Amino acid sequence: MAEVETVTGPVPAEQLGLTLVHEHVRFRDEAVAEQWPHLYDRDAELAAAVEAVNAAKAHGVRTICDPTAMFGGRDVRFMREVSERTGVQIIACTGIYTYDHLPMFFRTRDVDAIAELFVRDITEGIQGTDIKAAFIKCAADEPGVNENVEKIHRAAARASRATGVPIMAHTRPASNTGPRQLEIFLEEGVAPEKVQLAHTGDSDDLDYIVPLLEQGVYVGLDRYGLEMFLPLERRNETLLALVERGYVDRLLVSQDFCATIDWFPSEAVEQLVAGGAVSPDWSMVLVFEKVLPALRERGLSADDERRIFVDNPRRWLTGERLS
Ligand SMILES: [Zn+2]
Repeated sequence: MAEVETVTGPVPAEQLGLTLVHEHVRFRDEAVAEQWPHLYDRDAELAAAVEAVNAAKAHGVRTICDPTAMFGGRDVRFMREVSERTGVQIIACTGIYTYDHLPMFFRTRDVDAIAELFVRDITEGIQGTDIKAAFIKCAADEPGVNENVEKIHRAAARASRATGVPIMAHTRPASNTGPRQLEIFLEEGVAPEKVQLAHTGDSDDLDYIVPLLEQGVYVGLDRYGLEMFLPLERRNETLLALVERGYVDRLLVSQDFCATIDWFPSEAVEQLVAGGAVSPDWSMVLVFEKVLPALRERGLSADDERRIFVDNPRRWLTGERLS
């Protein structure tokens, strides 16, 4: 029986249950937080995280994958506290979330040296704890798949091959990054079913999405509520079209919600919400309160739902093949 590591220890894969595959219990710049800690209120962050996760739990969520990696302020003790306070299983990752910049530390070391650090997080534990990573995160965005990004992707691929854990790659369809990201993983010998191309659902261009799916990967329709990338209705249209075409076993649905985020001054965040750039509905429960009711009305079956929220996350995490 396959087991999956969570921040409170390994669990049998069949106990993962209803899973949100992409949510952040906290997202912040770890360098700023380390240098100017007075800017951050840990108690308030913890309260916000517990509130968001409890709201998801009320909809039956048993597990959350939190892809907060290096540069997103990964803190597995914080995650464990959220998990213990809510009873929801949280799955942590290793990896580096960068669109371009790499510290000198990594620029002067080779791919295998970086992969070794990822492997350590997976096999021994993270940040001096015995909490193990169950997947690997990397990213490409507007600057494209540049040299530093490629290096991290190759390190992620090699760590995945060494340990068997899957990869979640942040993609930017508007910059056509997905195909090249996948190509690197395949060049490194990673099986496509170990790859999740996150944020593919920021596009509703089936000519972009279907060729990726045809290569056997999972795609994340995982930013419900981030209206500036794609409005909710168009996300739903895309999901239904992909189910219709027979790809339900490769879809992962989530919100990429951040219970707290320090990327913008708080006034700016409020303006974004009020201006509709970010949906005021963005939350850890939007898919249950607004998305699924609409999709059910349009014919999404209970069986499809179970595949998207239970079977697919489990199969991606364990590498279980489609029978
Ligand atoms: Zn994210």
